[in-house]
Amino acid sequence: MSYGTIERVAVLGAGNMGHGITEVTAMAGYDVAMRDIKDEFVEDGYEQIRWSLEKLEEKELIDESAEEILDRIETTTDLEEAVADADLVIEAAPENLELKHDIFADLEEYCDEDALLATNTSSLPITEIAEVVDAPERVLGLHFFNPPVKMDLVEVIYGEETIDEVAEAGYEWVESIDKTPIYVRKDVRGFVVNTIVGPFGDEPAWMVSEGEATIREADAAMSHERGYPMGPFELADLTGIDVGYHVRKEGGTDIPPIVEEKVKAEELGQKTGTGYYDYEDGDGADYQPDDAGDFDWLRVESRMVNRAAYLVGEGVATPEEVDTGVQLGLGFPEGICRRGDKLGLDTVLEKLETLHEETGHERFEPHAYLEELVEEGKTGEDAGEGFYEYDGDDGNLDSYHDINVELDEGVLRVELDRPSRMNALSQDLLNEIDDLFSTVDVDEVRCATIEGAGDRAFSAGADVSGFSSAKPTDLMDVSQAFETVNEFPRPVVARIDGFCLGGGLELALACDLRIATERSSFGAPEINLGLIPGAGGTQRLTRILGETRAKELVFRGEHIDAERAEEWGLINRAVPREEFDETAEEFVSDLAGGPPIALKIAKKVMNEGQDASIDAALAMESQGFGLLTSTEDVLEGTMAFAEDREPEFEGK
Ligand code: NAD
Repeated sequence: MSYGTIERVAVLGAGNMGHGITEVTAMAGYDVAMRDIKDEFVEDGYEQIRWSLEKLEEKELIDESAEEILDRIETTTDLEEAVADADLVIEAAPENLELKHDIFADLEEYCDEDALLATNTSSLPITEIAEVVDAPERVLGLHFFNPPVKMDLVEVIYGEETIDEVAEAGYEWVESIDKTPIYVRKDVRGFVVNTIVGPFGDEPAWMVSEGEATIREADAAMSHERGYPMGPFELADLTGIDVGYHVRKEGGTDIPPIVEEKVKAEELGQKTGTGYYDYEDGDGADYQPDDAGDFDWLRVESRMVNRAAYLVGEGVATPEEVDTGVQLGLGFPEGICRRGDKLGLDTVLEKLETLHEETGHERFEPHAYLEELVEEGKTGEDAGEGFYEYDGDDGNLDSYHDINVELDEGVLRVELDRPSRMNALSQDLLNEIDDLFSTVDVDEVRCATIEGAGDRAFSAGADVSGFSSAKPTDLMDVSQAFETVNEFPRPVVARIDGFCLGGGLELALACDLRIATERSSFGAPEINLGLIPGAGGTQRLTRILGETRAKELVFRGEHIDAERAEEWGLINRAVPREEFDETAEEFVSDLAGGPPIALKIAKKVMNEGQDASIDAALAMESQGFGLLTSTEDVLEGTMAFAEDREPEFEGK
């Protein structure tokens, strides 16, 4: 039996998840059949796909037309027709084991024997779903997140019988549709992402039930101080308090009294108008940064880190996989293993032990793997090793977490890697940029580029949630990274595709050249928060655009599109998305092939000359000019010119 070559896909269910999975599959170029049980359901799902694709087309987020993509989708109510020549079937029917058993039993009958059979279940064991199939080795979980078009993550889950070849084929297929897969190597409840998020809602609910905290304190501390996209109670209101209630019921875990009360009162969150907050007569989740008080967030995070230790210790996932999962699946500001390493695993263990002793509750029982790490002295970043190993050697470009760095043939390529937060600039990310640009071996670099990960933004700004808890004195260091980039002795090109706002715009301004796609937008929205740009924006904008336009951007806080940005001279080029790589690479190749010393001096005198008197600036220029005349590069440049060939500069 050979699993692997996937050309045709069938999706069963045209509901929330099914139509989204169908859409992303067709977008990636696959032929896909979408099946539901009634014509109206299929049509409904298809219309939602059409609506979404037309939006994407309008925003130039897809290279083909919506029509071309829709042409690859067939719809049907006939199961046999849908799956007959599918190489991969993804079931996205309601969460009901019996129903899924019926479906998988039929699949065995109608599918080719080498088709992969996947389920999108969130909470049923893959192993149990596979029980009705004669060849359970070809059944796997492909757990997408809602909505599939926006959410990058897919958990690839092994049932007990799933073979590597099948999981690997599923993993590669996920990559081929431009999503990020993580393996879940054991069929554990909640898989990876929901295992970690459990205590995020659960522990604050216990703390409030026991009178140790208020709802507002918990939400304010977790979102404003700890940087989560929203507070746990706000999140419960959004997803439905009953959802968390049923998950606990099914898992046989204790239910915090406050959850029980809300479910009894049928106050289930936004969908019923009231939950933990009042959405009908009140202002909804209206907590403020000051509400945080002295909420014991360590208690919550320690439990999440403990869950991570369980996943890693039991061989369910690696720390990298856990961290990718929570960042892409939940929008966490950083990985939970990484956060544990920063807190200190000894601190986390001690917190759990104290709570375990005080309450006797098993939810605080430290996992053996956490104890083992601490016993071995692997207590985290400060110790040089925890979940991760920390390489003290600054020359190692792989040791960063929030940026990806590659040095290839003289081009230092930096990717801001927080796609779930639209690459918002956190303090950690800025520290890494600062570290990289101040420690990289400049002799190895001829040109650098900075771009954003994911397909939405270069960077949508500073991570405001992180800053509100910072001390004012910490904030004063924030701009260091921008200066380091600006003063880096090689040309730096910002490759901008999508939002380039606030701190993100300031980082782009600190670069020397800016190439953008036409769909990109630019702005300094700080004024809308009662702030001003704080990382060089007011000064660099004035120098680059002149006072009139700079003040328009800073005072009004509105976005401008790429066309206007190009007209204003904020960017060097605005090009259609399909020409972006080519255009940016033409710039990069010129800069990387250019004379390094001359470029360095040009950058320096042009940067510094702006702030000097014209006489001083001209003196700087002629001094630079004089210096260059004695270099080997000048000799090479003039010889190549005379011989009518391309010069090969060596930076000597
Ligand atoms: P949904 O109710 O929106 O859609 C389910 C669809 O399946 C409905 O249109 C229904 O008519 C159809 N259906 C019923 N029987 C069928 C059959 N025999 N064959 C084909 N289709 C059939 O549900 P959903 O939110 O899309 O969830 C689907 C699955 O995805 C569930 O297993 C759920 O746990 C999982 N999931 C949901 C989410 C989420 O946030 N909604 C996220 C990840 C995974």
